[in-house]
Amino acid sequence: FPSRSTVVVGGSGGRPEVRIGPEYFTLIAGPCAVESLDQILETAELAKAAGATLLRGGTFRPWSSAETFRGLGRSGLHMLAEAGAATGLPVVTEAADARDVEAVAEQADMLQVGARNMQNFALLDAVAQSGKPVLLKRGIQATIEEWLMAAEYIAQRGNLNIVLCERGIRTFEPTTPATLDISAVPTVQRLSHLPVVVDPTHASGRRDLVLPLARAVIAVGSDGVLIDVHPDPESALCDGPQALAGADVRVLASAIRRLAPLL
Ligand code: PEP
Repeated sequence: FPSRSTVVVGGSGGRPEVRIGPEYFTLIAGPCAVESLDQILETAELAKAAGATLLRGGTFRPWSSAETFRGLGRSGLHMLAEAGAATGLPVVTEAADARDVEAVAEQADMLQVGARNMQNFALLDAVAQSGKPVLLKRGIQATIEEWLMAAEYIAQRGNLNIVLCERGIRTFEPTTPATLDISAVPTVQRLSHLPVVVDPTHASGRRDLVLPLARAVIAVGSDGVLIDVHPDPESALCDGPQALAGADVRVLASAIRRLAPLL
């Protein structure tokens, strides 16, 4: 690959085509989990108003604690697709098990492989074969080399539409669930042709850190950011403390417009 790649998402089912790559800074926004049709429709409007071009929302959620909301599964997928159609935003959601990939690929424009599944090779096979673009999150304890080898695994099965997502790694620092590896962005851009976006939300787990970290990763050349937004974080079924709402979303949107004029 003589130059860095651009991945095209969407373009079917009446939803527009979105490009992620060096010339197209992308804001991916939405709730951590789809909770109801009203909630995802409202959040999709919020995301769109902030300048998001891709709507995210968890429907199958593998989570570290069994107590955490696991998502609405297939019914959540339909709600997400409906919100995408209503707002004209392509949608991305996690496929957590190889057996669910077909169902997820029927509704979603892009499949997310979560941090906990980065080396789930049966899942990597299935998402590769789905033919849909893949958002591959870095594993919580994965080196950059292991992350790129997981991407290679998908690529070797014929699917080159891969976007890498840095989401923080486990370190000895307990203040945040993960430490955002900002240096991974330029490092990976040198080692790979694939677009790299960053998720400051799941790295920090804290609303107050999302904007500073988003600014930092835009400054080092990230091709996009993935941010949790929710119309009412206090009532969110999961991860409310990290979701942006109201004025915070407007501040994020104007920071992105200033720092990443390609949006
Ligand atoms: C998510 O994006 O919803 C998520 C759970 O992220 P991660 O897999 O990075 O923890």
